[in-house]
Amino acid sequence: MNFKKSFKYLLKPRKVEKTFFNQFSGGKRWIFNWGLDQRKESWENEKKRISLFDQNNELVYLKKREDLAWLKNIHSQVLQQSLNDLDRAFVNFFNGLKKNIQIGYPKFKCKGEKDSFRYPQGVKVKEDKVWLPKIGWIKFKKTREVEGVIKQTTIIKERDNWYVVFSCEIEKEEPKVNIDPEKTLGIDLGLKYFANLAIGKENHFVTIENPKYLKKALKKLQFLSKELSKKNKGGKNRYKARKKLSNLHCYLKNLRLDFFHKLALMIVKSHDIIGVEKMNIKAMMRGLKTLSRAISDAAWGMFLSCLKNKALEYGKNLYEVSSFLESTRLCSNCGKKNEMKLGQSKYICECGQNIDRDLNAAINIKNLAVGASV
Ligand SMILES: [Zn+2]
Repeated sequence: MNFKKSFKYLLKPRKVEKTFFNQFSGGKRWIFNWGLDQRKESWENEKKRISLFDQNNELVYLKKREDLAWLKNIHSQVLQQSLNDLDRAFVNFFNGLKKNIQIGYPKFKCKGEKDSFRYPQGVKVKEDKVWLPKIGWIKFKKTREVEGVIKQTTIIKERDNWYVVFSCEIEKEEPKVNIDPEKTLGIDLGLKYFANLAIGKENHFVTIENPKYLKKALKKLQFLSKELSKKNKGGKNRYKARKKLSNLHCYLKNLRLDFFHKLALMIVKSHDIIGVEKMNIKAMMRGLKTLSRAISDAAWGMFLSCLKNKALEYGKNLYEVSSFLESTRLCSNCGKKNEMKLGQSKYICECGQNIDRDLNAAINIKNLAVGASV
């Protein structure tokens, strides 16, 4: 099983190396803007689309131009990566058009704005030094070991410092677990609460609410979306409203990620077997009817991928349980299926079971996970 992890370190470049960094990130920016300009021109004048393949080929000729001789100093992979980025920006933009999602047209990059460049390969690490092709060995502040295989290396400037970020792929052995019933947990994701947990042998019931600051932001999100829908199409006010909304989306996403990381860490650290319902099926079956549901679904997906990564990292067993098993209808005590009405908050069965509806679902999910792990 593989998972991805990034390792970021402060670089200690000498003056000459800083010059290289500036040159490389400048070259990356230049080629991005060149590529964007070429694509725009070609479309506006000839209604012709230029592909990544074409632009990569043209790179060879660009380097032969006398006025662009300086391009030769920059590693070709760095330049190609920049053209890849441009291509991805266009793919995202066109996909957005198809799906009716607002994704901006690729923009020209300005100097000083996210100075960075990246290598897909060829980078080596030895003790506290990193080898960057066409630049050389650079010292960095090694605060921890780099794990796994380096798949990509990014050099990035933040404020006045340069950092190196290794994006690694780590392989972890599938762990064998002696099941400790106390360390089992089932998660039922819901609308009323963000998650309902059934923990351990005694099925201790814990509900996780969205934090207050998230709730507030969600309310504001709903308000702003309504405002946006009232504005006239193409108007300046609509543009402003959309900008406000997208800023809030971004802010909310970061808040959520932070909350998810903490929650996932808490769950994974103290449990060995974790059950959760497969979300994609659930979402498909229900359909996206309202904004709040759409938001919840997106959030569940984000949380699940966060949880999966953490479980892999800590070597814990996470089981995605199929929702066709109808965790809501199944009695977690005797296994009988009972009809459940939408508003019904208690699960009552003729076997004597009488518990919270969400707890019943979470126990079913936990039991299935435990069953799958034996
Ligand atoms: Zn029962």
